[in-house]
Amino acid sequence: MEVAKKYYQKQAQVVINNMKRRNFEAYYCDNVSEAKKLIFNLLGSKKTIGYGGSMTLVENGFFESLEDMGHELIKREDYKTPNEQDELKKKLITCDAFFTSSNAITMDGELINIDGACSRVAYMLYGPKEVYVVAGMNKISFNREEGLSRASNVAAPKNAIRLNHETPCTKAGKCMNCLDEDTICCDIVITRFSRIKNRIKVILIGEELGY
Ligand code: SF4
Repeated sequence: MEVAKKYYQKQAQVVINNMKRRNFEAYYCDNVSEAKKLIFNLLGSKKTIGYGGSMTLVENGFFESLEDMGHELIKREDYKTPNEQDELKKKLITCDAFFTSSNAITMDGELINIDGACSRVAYMLYGPKEVYVVAGMNKISFNREEGLSRASNVAAPKNAIRLNHETPCTKAGKCMNCLDEDTICCDIVITRFSRIKNRIKVILIGEELGY
């Protein structure tokens, strides 16, 4: 077995044990295809599924797979007008399962996320019956400080570039702590415990995925 995979497996075991203490249900899969099979089993019968912006999910065909599994996807792009957006919020807060990734995950098992409109973190925190956090092992950070730095200096600038925002990080290549109108960093959220046991399910994948 290649060294990198072995390393990811060892690291993931530590993270998973720490997540259990935090009431998260956590798993490790060697690759995307294993992760999809696991999700299929965890979801069970037909569910209504919402999601937050995530390149991990988009680039690896998770949404297509969820539809193929027979689940009802609440497609954010179908809700454009203010009235439709209100309707979307109501649907998302009551959906069965919400899918997202995480900007960083600490070895100690905390999830770290930065959001602009908060259409991602809001539903991680409250509402959907289950939250699935799907993340590549490249998101692992050794501690909270490093995780916050990863979220601000790696994930956020890459997302700002992707979204064609002209925030200072897109030129500097790291966070410049801006207060621009179009900052994508309005809220920084650390999820350190789930009040509802196993509501948050984390699927770690032994590959480099997303930002
Ligand atoms: S410069 Fe602004 S938009 Fe860019 S990462 Fe920092 S706070 Fe976020």
